[in-house]
Amino acid sequence: MRTHTAMHILCGVVWRDYGASVTGGNMEPLQGRMDFEFERLQGDLVREIEAKINAEVDAERDVRVQTLPRDEAFQIPDLIRTRINLLPEGIPEVRTVEIVGLDLQADGGTHVANTREVGQIRITDYKSKGGINKRIYIELLPTGIT
Ligand SMILES: [Zn+2]
Repeated sequence: MRTHTAMHILCGVVWRDYGASVTGGNMEPLQGRMDFEFERLQGDLVREIEAKINAEVDAERDVRVQTLPRDEAFQIPDLIRTRINLLPEGIPEVRTVEIVGLDLQADGGTHVANTREVGQIRITDYKSKGGINKRIYIELLPTGIT
């Protein structure tokens, strides 16, 4: 749950501050990676992003889960950006996960209730996957909260 929420924070910050969209991701307990279309990602920027995602943890943003009728969900630009259109047509309702003020996605996963529960996040590595495609690796530091 902490890792999943951390992924949303990363995705939200990278979109908000750099306009780079996420193309994929993968996670395991306490670590994960995300792929972005993010041409100018390099070392200095990685440190800056790390500081920014931890600032969002410190901002203690609430995480809100809602279920919206499909039509209504399709009116929300943030959801369209995260490829809501890939949802099968037969699904009448869309479950959304919002980090209030930062990120909104169609999502079926479980998350913590507030970003403070994520604890500190470290960006452990990044690499180019060719062209504008970049991968960022994150790891969560121990908090005592599981
Ligand atoms: Zn999620």
